[in-house]
Amino acid sequence: MHIIVCVKQTPAGENVSVDQNTGCIIRSGESALNPFDEFAIEEAVRVKEKTPGSKVTAVTMGPPQAEAVLREAVARGCDGGVHVCGREFAGSDTWATSYALSQAVKKLSENDPSVLVFCGKQTNDSDTGHIGPQMAQWLGWPGAAFVRKLEAVDGKSVRVQRLMEDGYDVVEMPLPAVLSVIKEINTPRIASLKGRLASKKAQFPKWSAAELGCDPAKLGLDGSPTSVVRCFTPPQRASNTVKIQGETAADKARNLSAALKEAKIL
Ligand SMILES: Cc1cc2nc3c(=O)[nH]c(=O)nc-3n(C[C@H](O)[C@H](O)[C@H](O)COP(=O)(O)OP(=O)(O)OC[C@H]3O[C@@H](n4cnc5c(N)ncnc54)[C@H](O)[C@@H]3O)c2cc1C
Repeated sequence: MHIIVCVKQTPAGENVSVDQNTGCIIRSGESALNPFDEFAIEEAVRVKEKTPGSKVTAVTMGPPQAEAVLREAVARGCDGGVHVCGREFAGSDTWATSYALSQAVKKLSENDPSVLVFCGKQTNDSDTGHIGPQMAQWLGWPGAAFVRKLEAVDGKSVRVQRLMEDGYDVVEMPLPAVLSVIKEINTPRIASLKGRLASKKAQFPKWSAAELGCDPAKLGLDGSPTSVVRCFTPPQRASNTVKIQGETAADKARNLSAALKEAKIL
C-alpha cells in the first residue's frame, strides 16, 4: 500500500499575525510542522508498520524553506517526501492548493488503487479544514473528515470512526481514499535518532506545476476563486458581568430568572 501524508509548514506557536495592508499571513518568523500534521504522520506510519510492503510518502506545497517539514516527516518515520514548489503556486487559496496537491497525489499513485492519503484536521494559520475533503473531490475518491480512529485497513479498503456532533459514524470505503484526522486519534512519537539521521541525508524531488500537469488557470492568486477583501481582528466586546447572588441554589435560579426577565432575555 502507498500511504501519502500531506504536511504543511506554518508559523510556530499560536499567535499567527496578519499583515493589515496585504491581508497575507506574516511568515517571516519561526516556522514549524503544522501541529495537526503530527497526528497524520503518526497514523500513516502506524498503518505502514502494520502493513508489510507498504511505504509512506510526505507531500508539502510551499516555498523552498518548507522542505524542513519533509525532513521532520522522515525523522518521524516517513520513507520519503516530495515538494510541490514554484512561483506559480504563490497566493493559492484552498481550492487551488487542494488542486495542486491532488495532482501530486495522482502522480504518486500512478493508477495504483492501493493508496491511502492522510491530512491533518486543519492548520494553525489559515485553519480552514478544507484541504482533505477538497482533495477527495478533485481526485474523485471517497473521503472522511474528523477521523478519530482507524478500525481496520488493508490494501483494498479502510473502516474509520468519524467524529460527529452527537457521537461518531463508522464509515467503510474502498481505496484509494482521503482521510483527515483529529488529534484524539493517537499520540505522536518523538523522532528517533535513526530517523533524524535519515532525515538529514534525505533528498526531496521538487515538482513544478508543469511536471504535475497542472492547468495554470487553476493555480496561484489569479487561479483562486476566493479573494481576501480585508483582514482584521474583531474589536473586543465589553463584558458586562453580573454576579447572581442567593442563599440557596433555588434562590440563585429565581434571581437569575428575574434578572433575565428584566433584561428582556426571557
Ligand atoms: C484568497 C486567498 C489567498 C491566499 N493567499 C495566500 C498567500 O499569498 N500566501 C499564503 O501562504 N497563503 C495564502 N492563503 C492561504 C492558503 O490558501 C492556505 O494556507 C492553503 O490553501 C491551505 O489551507 P489551510 O491552511 O486552511 O489548510 P487546512 O485545510 O486547514 O489543512 C488541512 C490539512 O491539509 C493539509 N495541507 C494544508 N495545506 C497544505 C500544504 N500547503 N501542503 C501540504 N499539505 C497541506 C495538511 O495535512 C493540513 O493538516 C490564501 C488563502 C486565500 C483564501
